[in-house]
Amino acid sequence: MPELPEVETIRRTLNELVLQKTIDSVTVHLNRIIQLPEEVGEFCLLLAGQTIQSVERRGKFLCFMMDDFTLVSHLRMEGRYGLYDQKDPLELHTHVVFHFTDGTELRYKDVRQFGTMHLFPKGRELEEKPLKKLGLEPLAKDFTLAAFSNKLSGRSTKIKPLLLNQEYIVGIGNIYVDESLFLAGIHPEREADTLTRQELATLFEAIVKTLQEAVAAGGSSIKSYVNGQGEIGLFQHQLKMYGRKGEPCYACGQPIEKSVVAGRGTHFCPQCQPLKWKLKRVKKVKV
Ligand SMILES: [Zn+2]
Repeated sequence: MPELPEVETIRRTLNELVLQKTIDSVTVHLNRIIQLPEEVGEFCLLLAGQTIQSVERRGKFLCFMMDDFTLVSHLRMEGRYGLYDQKDPLELHTHVVFHFTDGTELRYKDVRQFGTMHLFPKGRELEEKPLKKLGLEPLAKDFTLAAFSNKLSGRSTKIKPLLLNQEYIVGIGNIYVDESLFLAGIHPEREADTLTRQELATLFEAIVKTLQEAVAAGGSSIKSYVNGQGEIGLFQHQLKMYGRKGEPCYACGQPIEKSVVAGRGTHFCPQCQPLKWKLKRVKKVKV
């Protein structure tokens, strides 16, 4: 599943590919991708004549900002966008096609069919599901240590599921949570209210650094991820923890362990991220 850095790379790529293109018509081959409006015919009708002004992102959602509407799109497991010429043959699993007036097409492919699209009158998207109730945006200016500490501290829940909860912080999935906790030297099963003020600060910095580096890695290689047919691919970042079970930790050389935390496969280094016992619980950390 793409996480925040991958979605950000896709957003930037889309901004290069489809900006100022005007939708002539829309073809939907799989109705259930369209969640709102309920009538697919209305979805197509409303989008005809709209020009894409920009492509924004909220967490892992892409927001196509048009003249009068905002299209909110989630790729889930396997959703892909690609820019094609209208003469290009339609590939398998192409569910939605945005036909532009210049003869090109933005096509949405999704092998697993879990992706979603919601169309809102411009501005309404932030007041309704799925964007309503989303937590802090970790690459935004208002993601501060104070805001972060305020969300997490005092909670007796394990830190990993808290970081995965989109109502607290958006966009960090399983991979980048493991990477951030390793960088901060914090065991994924530590309860949030046992984290010291210093540990919260270290974790905050680790999350920002991990995501910024991943976005920079994606940003520098955008062109190589648009293939010959215009399909925007995903890329694997250089990961220090995730998927390296049994391999030596880059910091200390100990083999990396894998366990299950909150139902998710979790990688950690037992030496760099020790699980401490008998820790003092702190109600609220003031920053
Ligand atoms: Zn280590």
